[in-house]
Amino acid sequence: MSLNPVIDGSKFLVDFDAIAAASHARRARKVAIQLPEGLRAFAAEVASRVASVTGAEVIVDSEPCFGACDIPVHLFGHADLVVQFGHTEMPSIGAIPKMHFANLFLDIDPRPVVEKALPALSGSIGVVTTAQHMQHLDSIVSFIRERGLNALTSRGDSRLGGYAQLLGCDYTSALWIGDRVDMYLYVGDGDFHPIGLAMLTDKKLVAANPLDLTVRTLDTLRDRIMKQRLSSIERAMNARSFGVLISSKLGQRRKALAETLVTEIIATGRNAMLVHTNVVSPDLISHYSFDAFVSTACPRIAIDDFHRYSKPLLTPVEAEIAIGLKPFSSFCFDQILAEQ
Ligand code: SF4
Repeated sequence: MSLNPVIDGSKFLVDFDAIAAASHARRARKVAIQLPEGLRAFAAEVASRVASVTGAEVIVDSEPCFGACDIPVHLFGHADLVVQFGHTEMPSIGAIPKMHFANLFLDIDPRPVVEKALPALSGSIGVVTTAQHMQHLDSIVSFIRERGLNALTSRGDSRLGGYAQLLGCDYTSALWIGDRVDMYLYVGDGDFHPIGLAMLTDKKLVAANPLDLTVRTLDTLRDRIMKQRLSSIERAMNARSFGVLISSKLGQRRKALAETLVTEIIATGRNAMLVHTNVVSPDLISHYSFDAFVSTACPRIAIDDFHRYSKPLLTPVEAEIAIGLKPFSSFCFDQILAEQ
């Protein structure tokens, strides 16, 4: 792997050689690129670099791209290769010859913030991170072990692109070592990835951010989200009709689960119907007359966009609680796992 800045002066590194190899393997004459929001302002520069290493004409895709779960089939008729920047491959989806995932690695040494987190660490520590910091995983683990603590990592399930990686919908890299660790250390920025783990475990979770060198827990945010979820469930208890959303995105599609939910809801005397969609949005929800919705698509839509929806939007287990099939005590953070 040979990493270079994605644009001049950027701390995000990408393997342009791997992009060139993927393009040459497909004898690509047209390459489409998908960029995360933060890079879209620099699309021309990135496109020019991709054109220079591949020799192909480059098309920029402007559709939103939510993750490796979001395979851009709309581009396959227009390009010989699609390069999705910023995500690792989701192996559970299976090989897609026209896709190449170009992860963006952050060129920031995480050891200073791990050192700052040391006083909060004890016992056996499950280390988790995101795709942007995965190249530093070995040095994080060595750094902790050299200071007399035990550090463990796990591969997790086949939706994950690498060891110790968290997705906002898949925490198996942490949970599969849950019986062997006393606590978790998340190395990365933002709340999006660690908050799901904070909601899925009773163990202490320390979040260490290599960008701003902060060390914190997520207890306050976890409690606030729990209150929001319980409020959504309570509001949906009186619903007589449910729209059960099923995603057309390959890595978010839980068809069997959606169909089971429709059957379960109807069996309680309520109405339910499958609603296929590519994007779940407040507009979609407001256009239909269902009293409440269940999303079998990305679990984060119901949770992170709580305030944007005027009607209750539930995750599958929340819907089962709302219709009385499960007790409140069975609440858990929704994940999409490889075997679903
Ligand atoms: S389903 Fe949601 S959280 Fe999971 S990878 Fe896709 S966008 Fe991210």
